[in-house]
Amino acid sequence: MSNSKMYMEDGKLMVPDNVVIPFIEGDGVGAEITPVCQKIVNSAVELAYVGKRSIEWKEVLAGGKAFEKTGEWLPQATLDAFKEYLVGIKGPLTTPVGGGIRSLNVALRQTLDLYVCLRPVRWFKGVVSPVKEPHKVNMYIFRENTEDIYAGIEWEQGTPEAQKFYKFLHDEMGVTKVRFPETSSFGVKPVSKEGTQRLVRAAIQFALDNGLPSVTLVHKGNIMKFTEGGFKRWGYEVAETEFKDRTFTMNEYERLKKDLGEESAKAAVAKALNEGKLVVKDCIADAFLQNTLLLPEEYSVIATLNLNGDYISDQLAAMVGGIGIAPGANINYKTGHAIFEATHGTAPNIAGQDVVNPCSLLLSSVMMLEYMGWKEAAQLIVNALEKAFSNGEATADLARFMPKGNALGTKDFGQRIVELL
Ligand code: NAD
Repeated sequence: MSNSKMYMEDGKLMVPDNVVIPFIEGDGVGAEITPVCQKIVNSAVELAYVGKRSIEWKEVLAGGKAFEKTGEWLPQATLDAFKEYLVGIKGPLTTPVGGGIRSLNVALRQTLDLYVCLRPVRWFKGVVSPVKEPHKVNMYIFRENTEDIYAGIEWEQGTPEAQKFYKFLHDEMGVTKVRFPETSSFGVKPVSKEGTQRLVRAAIQFALDNGLPSVTLVHKGNIMKFTEGGFKRWGYEVAETEFKDRTFTMNEYERLKKDLGEESAKAAVAKALNEGKLVVKDCIADAFLQNTLLLPEEYSVIATLNLNGDYISDQLAAMVGGIGIAPGANINYKTGHAIFEATHGTAPNIAGQDVVNPCSLLLSSVMMLEYMGWKEAAQLIVNALEKAFSNGEATADLARFMPKGNALGTKDFGQRIVELL
């Protein structure tokens, strides 16, 4: 069994040809999308490597199915399997109501310290989009996954904790700016140099590995100078120290402009582009959201904080008409741990009706194959999806907006993709 596990060697993920991948089927529609995706992935791997490579799927339990079978929402054996096998995939999970674990997804993310939430955003020909030129949207969002105002450090107004926190702010920190102290809730926004730099390092390395033109640091450093401003400064620092020979930063441009004038700075940019260097720039979050609508072609890899990343991921996904089919992954590039996932929920309103769209999980499977370096199999699936969507073949959620849409059930759509491989 040991030779069927992925492992890290000199910072690189090593993948055996016959690999075991743990998967969580998922609640609700999970039982429909998971087998369809596995069938497509198996066919693509078989076609691409003609028996040389294969995946052995190992089911692990989480969510409602786990609770039914074991009385636990997230059994230790599941966490152990993801730890041991490094890379896994999951369908959507019901969030348990009431005490216990707040969110299974958060628990998985925290246990494995999956600090990057990666969301690729691209348009598929045939998919109806609300923007005029969706083909210009082609981005990879690296959202920091462990810090920021999302860290869950907050106190509700009126509680002794909120009052104590305010007292500390007022009496010990000299804060007098809280407008309505008696009725304020408080939240804390931790943003660290270490947390920022590991995220930005991963984004830059990804851009270099995939020959992409730029990394944009998206922040609100103009207002939140130490947290979001720190993100920008520490991000540029990574580029200018660790990737000095392979990047050109807008920071450098500004310095040259100040010291030597605009012409020299522009010449330096032109030289850097000529040499194929990766451009690292930054953008204020509000302007960035505007720019993604007006000039999406100017952006490629995005590195941003947790909250900004949440908004940006959904806006960009909507721009390509793909909010229901957007894939995602949570990754720790240092340890190699990664969980690929459907980004939608359990869709209980359509579960069991054979109408759910499997593409979010399928495109997450594509990301997983790419992460493993099995790019040929990944490309086969992408090509098949492109063909299906261009023909107007899709599940009802997408087909109903396509001019010549032909709505297929989940199983038939999966079968069609296998045929188109
Ligand atoms: P949802 O994403 O399950 O559904 C929202 C709407 O989108 C519904 O109308 C649903 O039918 C539709 N939809 C979602 N995925 C679809 C698909 N693949 N194809 C076609 N239509 C699709 O969100 P919700 O209703 O807010 O949440 C339901 C449950 O899922 C809750 O328990 C929630 O906590 C959980 N949830 C889990 C995850 C996760 O595990 N990653 C994410 C979000 C919500």
